[in-house]
Amino acid sequence: MSVSEDLFARALRLIPGGVNSPVRAFRSVGGAPFFVTRAQGASLTTADGRELTDFVCTWGPALHGHNHPRIKAAIAAALENGTSFGTPNPYEVEMAELIVRFFPSIQKVRMCNSGTEATMSAVRLARGFTGRDKIIKFAGCYHGHSDSLLVKAGSGALTHGHPDSAGVPAAFARETIVLPFNDPAALAAAFAANPGAIAAVILEPYIGNVGLIPAQPGWLAAVRAACTAHGAVLIFDEVMTGFRLARGGVQELEGIVPDLTCLGKVIGGGLPVGAFGGRADIMDLLAPLGPVYQAGTLSGNPLALAAGIAALRLIDEADPYARLDRLGRQIRDAALGAARAKGLALQVPQVGSMFSFFFSATPVRDYAQALAADAAVFKRIFHACLAQGVYLPPSAYEACFISTAHEGAAVDRACTVIAGAITGL
Ligand SMILES: *Cc1c(COP(=O)(O)O)cnc(C)c1O
Repeated sequence: MSVSEDLFARALRLIPGGVNSPVRAFRSVGGAPFFVTRAQGASLTTADGRELTDFVCTWGPALHGHNHPRIKAAIAAALENGTSFGTPNPYEVEMAELIVRFFPSIQKVRMCNSGTEATMSAVRLARGFTGRDKIIKFAGCYHGHSDSLLVKAGSGALTHGHPDSAGVPAAFARETIVLPFNDPAALAAAFAANPGAIAAVILEPYIGNVGLIPAQPGWLAAVRAACTAHGAVLIFDEVMTGFRLARGGVQELEGIVPDLTCLGKVIGGGLPVGAFGGRADIMDLLAPLGPVYQAGTLSGNPLALAAGIAALRLIDEADPYARLDRLGRQIRDAALGAARAKGLALQVPQVGSMFSFFFSATPVRDYAQALAADAAVFKRIFHACLAQGVYLPPSAYEACFISTAHEGAAVDRACTVIAGAITGL
């Protein structure tokens, strides 16, 4: 029995499914997960001593690669002074100053500990601000696991949502309307059917949680205009895209100004951090200034913020986005070239350091089209790549991530391995 197999057998006895977050269990691709004991640069080292080139990047956070020396040094320096204070600390001020500089739409910001906390709190704040209960989300967008956001579409586009998890009360799901992404007409119809009732529209401006689905031209402007016209709060969930696709996220790339923005992942430098912020008149409704309650024992934690500040300063100094986009295009072109030679229908949406594979003859614009792509082919690619030391996300519906540490040999080899896996199908 390998070390990973032994650990997984022990984990299965004590941890539901053996994992602390479901996609890690490899259910979508089959097989058992490997355990990792070390992450450095672009590589993971498994408990059995295998080296893998990592395109999961801890599901997005590792923009600068794993265990970057500058982030490690920042955590070590902070550790000298203690792990948690329970009072305001200087890191919080520096982090807030960095965030508002990177995201001009953010005038005030509150730190929390995960992306889930950020989106849950932003939705409550939008409801408190508008005095309305209903929210609109889009099929395929993932916003963490709070009750209001674990909701799937009802039978028709205008019907109320259904719980997307056991344990979510139907009464909560009824307050969430789920619409197709990239569909301005559906959005307009939902606003028309619910006059004065929509508190907020929340979306991933580019979906990164069913594979990668960028916004069609005009879509985000249409969402912005509809929210303004109907007095609804526009929430961009940039937990995945913030700092990853541009310093200022998709809102910078697309020139759209949301009312509130949710952040996470990269902002923690590999430690647990989330944040939400935006218009000062909305943010000032948060306790202790206003009536919307939100809190956190470890929010603004000095170790986590030291790591996050180091990660953001690295972005400031190196401006990595053009380099990351070149790496992304290199992989996309290698995969598309192999698919073309093989006569295989493949779409590789790619923006900067994010990309994914849809085995589909037509581009994917929404959740239904993503589900229609052939996920079985992805499974075979996943296992073929893993056998050659290249770790793609263990699901056809997760985006792949590149870090600055992948530049050079890691990406060159991955291109060969991915192209080989497609050729060998
Ligand atoms: C990962 C993610 C979340 C949830 O963040 P957690 O830190 O896992 O709670 C929310 N929204 C988006 C867009 C994400 O990618």
